[in-house]
Amino acid sequence: MNKVALITGGSRGIGAATALLAASQGWTVAINYVRHAHAAEEVARAVRSTGGKAITIKADVSVEADVVTMFETLDHEVGRITALVNNAGVVDQAARVDQMPGDRLRRMFSINVLGSFYCAREAVRRMSTRHGGAGGSIVNVSSAASRLGSPNEYVDYAAAKGAIDVMTIGLAKEVAGEGIRVNAVRPGFIETEIHASGGRPNRVSELAPGIPMQRGGTAGEVAESIVWLMSDASPFTTMSFLEISGGR
Ligand code: NAP
Repeated sequence: MNKVALITGGSRGIGAATALLAASQGWTVAINYVRHAHAAEEVARAVRSTGGKAITIKADVSVEADVVTMFETLDHEVGRITALVNNAGVVDQAARVDQMPGDRLRRMFSINVLGSFYCAREAVRRMSTRHGGAGGSIVNVSSAASRLGSPNEYVDYAAAKGAIDVMTIGLAKEVAGEGIRVNAVRPGFIETEIHASGGRPNRVSELAPGIPMQRGGTAGEVAESIVWLMSDASPFTTMSFLEISGGR
């Protein structure tokens, strides 16, 4: 079967590493981005330079119409999706809940929760044997924050990831008999640009002493688990959560 993966937020960080690794294992990859077209094109170029197949698709996952159009583009340009990686996500500046404005909360939940639901819905409509599909795999990128709660930093982000965890459980059960596996990874502190976007570019090295393994992780280390969950190498694994957090 032609292996086609859509990786939301595939232009940078964990998503980019996942796109590159998946492509090296024979997946055709669709690299979604929202702002950094150049970064997305760089990932696609790297895939093509080693003989792989990649397209880039601009879409804001928090905008339902964008997501619908993204899946239609995927259908036309590369064919039926077999794996979705719900990776696009954002953090914000460290703040207490009693300091969080409504705009921040709406953005946090729109991108991290609604975006993942819109994408999962479109994927199930194409993958499910109930809808004439041939099955597939959905991997949600949650966070260790959903276990830890992220007090004084971003409880909103942690709660959004908690919603993704529950979606993983419920959707996994809902579509297990329709050829679709749904799993999640929970990365801990991983070296990417997300920390700079939250105002703390050195966050991982600063917090490394508190991690049992004494270091942050790499995007490539997370990608290994995601690609395994996407692949036929994990055929009986569904509703699972892989902790990729160095023991934290
Ligand atoms: P990153 O380096 O900041 O990259 C974020 C990616 O998401 C970019 O490709 C960005 O696209 C895309 N994106 C952001 N908002 C989007 C939107 N509205 N629509 C579509 N794409 C959007 O982040 P990362 O560290 O790789 O994080 C990836 C995932 O891992 C997130 O879900 C994050 O919560 C989770 N995670 C990260 C860590 C960590 O320590 N890094 C830990 C736990 C969980 P553009 O390039 O176009 O901006």
